[in-house]
Amino acid sequence: MPEGDTIHRAASRVGAALVGREIVSIETPQPRHRLDRWPERLAGRAVRAVDARGKHLFLRFDGDLTLHSHLRMGGQWSVYRRGERWRKSPRRAWLVIRTPEHDVVQFDGPVLELVTDSRTRFDQALAGLGPDLLADDFSEERFLRRLREDDQTRAFGDALLDQRNVAGIGNIWRAEACFLARVDPHRPTAEVSDEQALTAVRAIQPRMRESVAGGWPEPWVYKRAGRPCRRCGEAIRSGGLGDDNRTVYWCPGCQS
Ligand SMILES: [Zn+2]
Repeated sequence: MPEGDTIHRAASRVGAALVGREIVSIETPQPRHRLDRWPERLAGRAVRAVDARGKHLFLRFDGDLTLHSHLRMGGQWSVYRRGERWRKSPRRAWLVIRTPEHDVVQFDGPVLELVTDSRTRFDQALAGLGPDLLADDFSEERFLRRLREDDQTRAFGDALLDQRNVAGIGNIWRAEACFLARVDPHRPTAEVSDEQALTAVRAIQPRMRESVAGGWPEPWVYKRAGRPCRRCGEAIRSGGLGDDNRTVYWCPGCQS
């Protein structure tokens, strides 16, 4: 699943290709959107801004129209130079925006909506989102409040994945966050102190920013099951966790 840092990186690439550029065409090839008439409604409008909130991406057009996208599993935004061969099948494209220089394509992204009415609808959709760890105005206080309002018997590693507590953390970063805070991801949230919870998010924030900038920090535990912990030498373990049983990685030696 695309994580928050992936979406922020996509937003800056898509923004560079679209903001202030002439839009030659907008296509919505999937049958589900055939009757939406977006190309007609967006014709002649410039893209003002492209931004991300958690795992949501927004293309803001002139005239208070916004395209809201959420990629779910496997979705992707790609930017190609005009004439460059796409690396995925055109059949998987949901949205194609062409400028004189670029094709901007959203692949495999089933959540796509055009929002009117001065943002009313997506404000509602976003109302449930916790503070975005990658936003400049990330509020630690709001994160802690959301975390404590959640079920305190829930495993901390599961609570970190819930976008209502903190937006932008996916499976990679929740494992790394727990490791860096020395907290076993199975530990009930009630037994994780505020200080430990903050240590977890503070530790991954700069790594996620590095990833937005195109770097890829070497993981401590993610996908390292069976290999020695680089902090204590114990073998890293893995197993399913939480409501959706997604695989989590941890070190039994230095996370308790
Ligand atoms: Zn260890």
